[in-house]
Amino acid sequence: MKHLREYRDGDIADSIARSIHESTTRSWSIMEVCGGQTHSIMRYGIDQLIPKSIQLIHGPGCPVCVTPIETIDRAHAIAEQPKVILCTYGDMLRVPGSRGSLSGLKTRGCDVRTIYSPLQACQIARDNPNRSVVLFAIGFETTAPANAMAIKIAKTEKLKNFSVLVSHVLVPPAIEMIASDPACRVDAFLAAGHVCAVTGYEAYHRLAEMYRIPIVVTGFEPVDLLEGIRLAVLQLERGQAFVENAYQRTVAAEGNPTAQGVLKEVFQITDREWRGIGTIPSSGYALSEAFRDFDAEVRFPLAWKPVECTNCRAGDVLRGLLKPYQCAEFGKGCTPDSPLGAPMVSHEGACAAYYQFSQLSPKMNASP
Ligand code: SF4
Repeated sequence: MKHLREYRDGDIADSIARSIHESTTRSWSIMEVCGGQTHSIMRYGIDQLIPKSIQLIHGPGCPVCVTPIETIDRAHAIAEQPKVILCTYGDMLRVPGSRGSLSGLKTRGCDVRTIYSPLQACQIARDNPNRSVVLFAIGFETTAPANAMAIKIAKTEKLKNFSVLVSHVLVPPAIEMIASDPACRVDAFLAAGHVCAVTGYEAYHRLAEMYRIPIVVTGFEPVDLLEGIRLAVLQLERGQAFVENAYQRTVAAEGNPTAQGVLKEVFQITDREWRGIGTIPSSGYALSEAFRDFDAEVRFPLAWKPVECTNCRAGDVLRGLLKPYQCAEFGKGCTPDSPLGAPMVSHEGACAAYYQFSQLSPKMNASP
């Protein structure tokens, strides 16, 4: 497949890996921000191709994993209401909240539907005028434009039985939270290429400069990831710290202005809680004043206090402080069939990646 095969080419990957070995003179810790990148690293054994002195730290870039338990519980409370249809994406169904998962509610007869596009939720609202249709909208800046379009369409069509439970989070504030932590162990970041395809990477220049940390915009195929690591190592070895784009086939410096325009119209930036991490200032979207009527949080209050599973160490995993296999529950009390935390559920979750591809990684038994 064109534009895919060449980015999975073993000879090209070997040659970049050799170059990384030749350039590396000391230990470096590099954080890949996105869970999709973590899965590629584990799937293709990228961590085994690079020098042992380079540690890859897995970042908080899994939107399902960082959706706060309160929001998941709110989705439960909404789905339990009579005459409600809750629409969301597949991964959210199995994420445990205080009172089980949405798929559990589905088996009890609640109308929870898996969708592949937010426009499906608009169509469900048109088809069911006597029922209330709620779109559980999660994701980073990548999925937010499509959800924003659905909300715009609902407003234009006056779909009064349509509302949205918004749980969008933004990547640059999370990077800043990690980089500004005095205990930060990260020497360089691989920024998420798909996020930058929407936002561009202008916002990262200030972070690279302020925290003296290289940031390389990186894709998701093995050759992309190795090239991102190579560029990060070169900067680190030379004592440089700037923003570099290793995903030029997809990302422009200014991003996608059309998508940004829709986001600006429908959402406003707000403080947002990240599950296991806490509240990060200006790190999420809420509906803007003009679209506030579509806010499901206003229409459906939450009547109970959420309770977190105390054994799950997802917060430490998401902040790069713990490898998934260092959690006492990993592979024992917590598996993809019976997850205790969201990182074991989501296809971008670090715990699921380690569980799925663990036999490939001899570093599993190494110290962090
Ligand atoms: S292995 Fe399971 S319990 Fe442990 S941190 Fe990951 S999701 Fe939580």
